[in-house]
Amino acid sequence: MTNKIIMRKIQLYDNKEIELDKCPGCEFANHNFSLSCGIAYENDTFILSQDWELPIPGFMILSSKKHIVSLSEFSDEERDEMFNIVNKTINILKKNNVCYKFNVIFEEKRHFHIWIMPRYEWMSKCTDDIIGNLGKIQDYAKKNYKNKDTFDKIKEVSNLIKSNFSKN
Ligand SMILES: [Zn+2]
Repeated sequence: MTNKIIMRKIQLYDNKEIELDKCPGCEFANHNFSLSCGIAYENDTFILSQDWELPIPGFMILSSKKHIVSLSEFSDEERDEMFNIVNKTINILKKNNVCYKFNVIFEEKRHFHIWIMPRYEWMSKCTDDIIGNLGKIQDYAKKNYKNKDTFDKIKEVSNLIKSNFSKN
């Protein structure tokens, strides 16, 4: 039997490109690639970072370290821990005036992760139905916010979350 290797190219939020032939979620959890802004928080079970691809400050991805697909595969303790991290992340972003409203989306596509998505004003200008038009918002961000100011802001927000988590 031959091993079929499927290479997947991902363009990161600051235009850097990576190529992966394994599950991207596992590769990130194992530190096999990194983002310019670094990791906002991690423990044995979870890893929290800026979304890899979207130049939207505070758009965070919380991912399980083990390869699971569904929310229901966590233990009760893990699920509680996960929601605590989501809650803490949102509180940090609110308290530091990054954003005041969020959509939280569970993504059960391949490697389980959660999107913590800030709802910025410019998104309402794109559409009055944000959830129905996520693709449109993501395209808008990629077209309009791939610039140094945004990359700097992403790093600043990521560091902000990091320092607040380490304070505990
Ligand atoms: Zn995985």
